[in-house]
Amino acid sequence: MPVEQCVTVGEGQTLLHAAPAVGRYTGLKPDRLYLQYEGMNPSGSFKDNGMSAAFSHARFVGAKKAACASTGNTSASLALYSSVTQIMQAVIFIGSGKISYGKLSQALDYGALTVQIQGDFDDAMARVQEVSRELGIYLVNSVNPFRLEGQKTIMYRVLEALRWQTPDWIVVPGGNLGNSSAFGKAFSELHELGLIDRIPRLAVINAGGARTLYDLVEKQGVCWNDGRPDLDRIEGYFREMDAAGRRASTIASAIEINRPVNLHKCLRALQWCKGVVRQVSDQEILDAKAQVGAGGLGCEPASAASVAGTKVLVEEGIISPDERVVCILTGHELKDPTATVAYHTHDAKYFDEVLRSRGVERAQFANRAVQVKNDLGEIVRVIESRG
Ligand SMILES: *Cc1c(COP(=O)(O)O)cnc(C)c1O
Repeated sequence: MPVEQCVTVGEGQTLLHAAPAVGRYTGLKPDRLYLQYEGMNPSGSFKDNGMSAAFSHARFVGAKKAACASTGNTSASLALYSSVTQIMQAVIFIGSGKISYGKLSQALDYGALTVQIQGDFDDAMARVQEVSRELGIYLVNSVNPFRLEGQKTIMYRVLEALRWQTPDWIVVPGGNLGNSSAFGKAFSELHELGLIDRIPRLAVINAGGARTLYDLVEKQGVCWNDGRPDLDRIEGYFREMDAAGRRASTIASAIEINRPVNLHKCLRALQWCKGVVRQVSDQEILDAKAQVGAGGLGCEPASAASVAGTKVLVEEGIISPDERVVCILTGHELKDPTATVAYHTHDAKYFDEVLRSRGVERAQFANRAVQVKNDLGEIVRVIESRG
């Protein structure tokens, strides 16, 4: 592709930062935990890394419209590239009531044609593939291989920041499994090229309420098997899921997915990287998120699954406290303020509605606002009593 066809809006200027306080929370030794904060991308999530590549390809092939189904961040990213470049009309499919306001506000504000259909993400995903085929619209979901090529750069940046010393673990939340697939491919290629001498291990973290990968890999023993995964078992799992009417449900809406579209590629990545899969509850996710907020740059709920998952793996002894671990913080703190405020205020209505309904009972790291009379003496007393 000619370089002048490449579309960029400044994605990829992100930071790997050492997070000792969060590291302590996970049980790692000091200075062993790093957070790769992809919330710093222009639309506020890692999706921009892949969108730059997919959008460039769409432009190269002369697409006039580009579409995606989204739990929010893919649509925010596509809408941003469309509005900044004015090359293509963005068409966005979202499920009903499943998208945080931070993300929806972006799609609307950037002027994307936003189609809200009755159903969840998986319904929107099935529909957008059909519509794109029918109308010849360019599809930018992570079924698009260029997306994954772009997302490999997240690992290049991690390695650059660590002066090309491979970390021991990469821990990433798992939704549609685009990132985990891309990371595995990146490391396998870098190793083949001789640019790294070993491949880090990969941990993919599901939300307990959306744990297809966890069930298949850890419970049913499904693996890549050198290119011959047990397809019958996988199909059987989905058949049973549909028959039982089981649908994904988690506060981490970005990973609230039943049928990950990159499942097979992720199985391959897990084989390449000697990977493991774990699930964490919404309670664990929100507690970890509060720790990331208090000890770093903050993140949205799905991102904190990586930190919650690290804690689980350290407790299990799979990750040793001495090992160097990189957690990917996939999305910005401000993407989903509702979950954050519900956790911290513990306001009865908010907490019950947003959190208790999802099995979250406690907010042990809540930082509540202090109610105080509009009176100088009272205010001074409150501030001084807090040291
Ligand atoms: C899309 C997204 C995920 C899931 O990533 P996959 O590559 O689909 O597994 C996780 N966190 C956030 C914030 C996301 O936007």
